[in-house]
Amino acid sequence: MKESQKYMLCPQCGSRRLYIKAESGEEHFVFVMPDNSIVYAKTGEPIPEDLETSQIRCADCSWYGPLRKLTNRFMY
Ligand SMILES: [Zn+2]
Repeated sequence: MKESQKYMLCPQCGSRRLYIKAESGEEHFVFVMPDNSIVYAKTGEPIPEDLETSQIRCADCSWYGPLRKLTNRFMY
């Protein structure tokens, strides 16, 4: 694994710009760390524990899915 791959990536387009849509409709832009912890993209702060994280969405393509589908190595 390359040292530079600090974040988990969208499996479809390789973007690290991911977000979570809360039930309220609010969008939380996040990065996912290799240990699957989720932090706010802007601040690096951990997201609230009560935020529903079963569906991760990609900000750069139409992909969404569970956390475990993210990749740390981008391959077509
Ligand atoms: Zn994507």
